[in-house]
Amino acid sequence: MIAEIIAIGSEMLTPFRQDTNSLYLTAQLNNLGVEIGFKTIVGDSLKDIVRVTTAALSRADILLLSGGLGPTEDDLTREAVAETLGLQLRRDPAVVSAIERRFAEHGWKMSANNVKQSDVIAGAAVLMNANGTAPGQWISGKSDGKEKIVILLPGPPHELKALFESSVLERLRAKVPPQFLASRILKITGMGESACDARVAPIYKRFTDVDTTILAGAGEIQLHVKTRGPTAEAAERRLDEIVEKLEAELGDCVFSDNGDSLEQIVSYFLQMRSATLAVAESCTGGLVAERLTSVSGSSRYFVGGVVAYSNELKTELADVPQDLLDVYGAVSEQVARALAEGIRKRCGTTLGVGVTGVAGPTGGTAEKPVGLVFHALASESGMEVIRRNFPGDRARIRWFASQQALDMVRRKLM
Ligand code: ATP
Ligand code: MG
Repeated sequence: MIAEIIAIGSEMLTPFRQDTNSLYLTAQLNNLGVEIGFKTIVGDSLKDIVRVTTAALSRADILLLSGGLGPTEDDLTREAVAETLGLQLRRDPAVVSAIERRFAEHGWKMSANNVKQSDVIAGAAVLMNANGTAPGQWISGKSDGKEKIVILLPGPPHELKALFESSVLERLRAKVPPQFLASRILKITGMGESACDARVAPIYKRFTDVDTTILAGAGEIQLHVKTRGPTAEAAERRLDEIVEKLEAELGDCVFSDNGDSLEQIVSYFLQMRSATLAVAESCTGGLVAERLTSVSGSSRYFVGGVVAYSNELKTELADVPQDLLDVYGAVSEQVARALAEGIRKRCGTTLGVGVTGVAGPTGGTAEKPVGLVFHALASESGMEVIRRNFPGDRARIRWFASQQALDMVRRKLM
């Protein structure tokens, strides 16, 4: 079965409002094993709503519309859907009194235009809205011998969600063939998007029952993997098989398959190894520490550190020898090492991280261009340094650098 979602409201055709209802509805329908074929956003125009609903009905089995059920002139969803389906709108006295009661409970008097919210498409089931005045509507009927379902939902997200869960979910479940969806997100670092796809495509292309989507972000790739089965257990089992093959191919570049962020994984490993960590950051300006401390309970393993931006502070607070700064410059492998070792000794931790680089956009030279970053990890057993040339603007370079630093800690403890 294929569904379509239509978000109705001119405000979502401006830069100021986003359609978020469709994300929620997509997740709910996917859980029932129903895919979304198209999503449309349309303004508050009767003619345009009729056009998009007509097109959607010609393609989809299930049509979900959100918004435009209010009392005002620009709320036209009921009228437009009635016109598309060639059905009458009838004022439902039970809905009129329900709305009147709702107003009375709040000590208000219902205004005349609210009555229009009691207009029900002939044959529709009314879905009472506990959080607002506009009820939803469920219309099902045959078109070209195929059953079609059209569902009208209110626009405000909290109303839509509550109504969907109380009155739509179980009705829909009864209509769709029982199918269970299992999905997982593999998070990958230390590998580019095309390299990642080249490795995993031969695997996922072999299986026709798997959907795979690659989403690339700064320093991190997400591989979304989905499959279906006749029971939840069967779907999970099938997913396990596929994920196992993908993980074997990607090796230790996969840092999480349960939604955890890199800092959460680092937290997990530091605690598992009873290790502690301190950082001395230059170009990241505290971003590594910020990410580490975003995890609750981080005080168990993260002691702190310094943002050693100036050469003076690198010497004073992380014991970087002055001659290293003079000879090699602040952005150098030698200074990254000294930062990591200096802060580790100062703080008495198992591990020390040092980061120094050119975040740009100014300050680059031919020898040390914008994006050049040195990352060092000091431990009892020695020192590792990674030199990278990151692309992008200042924010991206700093993010990449923090990602690299955290990933070094992860790999060290894995
Ligand atoms: P109301 O009775 O409040 O007028 P309605 O069903 O007519 O309800 P709209 O007027 O279309 O809904 O939208 C009301 C508010 O809900 C909008 O201002 C907007 O903030 C929010 N909203 C509407 N549609 C969406 C959507 N698709 N995604 C997120 N928010 C939405
Ligand atoms: Mg409205």
